[in-house]
Amino acid sequence: MTAHSPTVVDAENFPHLAIIGGGIGGVALAVACLHRGIPFTLYERDRGFAARSQGYGLTLQQASKAIEGLGVFSLDDGVISTLHLVHTTDGQVIGDWGIRKWLQGDAKSSPKRTNVHIARQSLRQALLEQLGGDERVQWGHQLVDFQEIDAGGVDLSFQVDGTIQHAKADLLVGADGIRSSVRSLLIGEDASPLRYLGCIVILGICPLENLGRLEHDLLDSATVFQTANGNERIYMMPFTADSVMWQLSFPMPEEDAKALSAEGAQALRDEACKRCQWHDPIPQILATTEAAQVSGYPVYDRALLTADLLEKGKQVTLIGDAAHPMSPFKGQGANQALLDALALARGITKACGPKSPWREAGLRASVLTGFEAEMLKRSATKVKDSADAAEFLHSDIVLHEGDEPRGRCLKRKPQAADDMDRPG
Ligand SMILES: Cc1cc2nc3c(=O)[nH]c(=O)nc-3n(C[C@H](O)[C@H](O)[C@H](O)COP(=O)(O)OP(=O)(O)OC[C@H]3O[C@@H](n4cnc5c(N)ncnc54)[C@H](O)[C@@H]3O)c2cc1C
Repeated sequence: MTAHSPTVVDAENFPHLAIIGGGIGGVALAVACLHRGIPFTLYERDRGFAARSQGYGLTLQQASKAIEGLGVFSLDDGVISTLHLVHTTDGQVIGDWGIRKWLQGDAKSSPKRTNVHIARQSLRQALLEQLGGDERVQWGHQLVDFQEIDAGGVDLSFQVDGTIQHAKADLLVGADGIRSSVRSLLIGEDASPLRYLGCIVILGICPLENLGRLEHDLLDSATVFQTANGNERIYMMPFTADSVMWQLSFPMPEEDAKALSAEGAQALRDEACKRCQWHDPIPQILATTEAAQVSGYPVYDRALLTADLLEKGKQVTLIGDAAHPMSPFKGQGANQALLDALALARGITKACGPKSPWREAGLRASVLTGFEAEMLKRSATKVKDSADAAEFLHSDIVLHEGDEPRGRCLKRKPQAADDMDRPG
């Protein structure tokens, strides 16, 4: 579904945004600007939407509500899970929760909402449709430098087809992911370098038809399950209605993890098969996942950003992984990027309407400091919890019996509503 009556662009009152990065956060910010009449240009270094493969699936938790704020009321390719199971390697269930259990009257409390699983590219596509299509993106534009102008605004330099091209904007937003160039140019790499979290993830996508006649309750397209032994841990979720995504992780020294990742898809799948001769249908799924659908990376995050580092930019800010990269183990990165995008667009609308003194006061004082304070506070616990999960999911703590997300036993206090049924 697309916005029916796009708002007229108000270039007189609002700053013009240069959004760097057409991933989840960047496209979401562009949509939020479009809906509010905020002028923007969206730059992406990839040459087109399909430059990368489907990659992996995302679980929308808090952001399943936030995407309605971006005009997306139904995700045609989204799959809802109703049960989450945790097993030991022989298939014994040591934890189960979710709406299906609640409906059966077994659970003490009802989940506040369901989780939606969707391929990263399908979510990106749904957001691009809101924008009116692909042509709203400046593809093949890699930001390589920027300079803030004292009188206001930012000069941008892009590498485009081997040449350098220049552009201007009032506000530069880095939505360019964990290896963000905007962040690096703004605060340098040394201030918060990539931090290795001690483990590798190997991912695969397997169509159910690859499994032939194999039938299994865990393959009902509505169940999420994980199986662990205190070292390796595999997480499986519906990817589409007729395929599953698996994510295997285990501790490994950084150099070994880089080497295994560089060996490529076949080696990664072989490693997964070798390590997970566990209960059905895990071995069958790993063995029948085509190598082309397998990828693997060492897992990184960065130390939390502080407000004073971001204040170096008078007309520059960051959202999503560029601001707060985190491990994938709590499934929060894209959720936070979507929340950031909405918060920034709302902040601009509030502070920069007609008669607003933002040009005299500056965007930092008018919008950015307030926006960043909320973003940094909201995302900090997610970064920390995601880093903690990289440790306890590969320890005996994961084998704790309990009908709750893994690691909750470490935090015996009332949980936030966004913590019901997540990948961890
Ligand atoms: C295996 C895995 C599973 C995950 N599961 C979940 C999950 O279940 N739920 C969840 O919420 N999150 C999950 N995440 C995290 C989530 O994918 C990221 O947090 C999210 O995609 C971040 O969005 P972003 O827009 O900040 O960055 P990205 O989506 O990484 O987009 C950055 C974009 O910037 C572009 N770019 C980079 N540099 C430049 C440049 N110099 N100039 C122009 N363009 C540039 C890149 O090409 C890219 O398109 C998972 C991540 C992984 C790896």
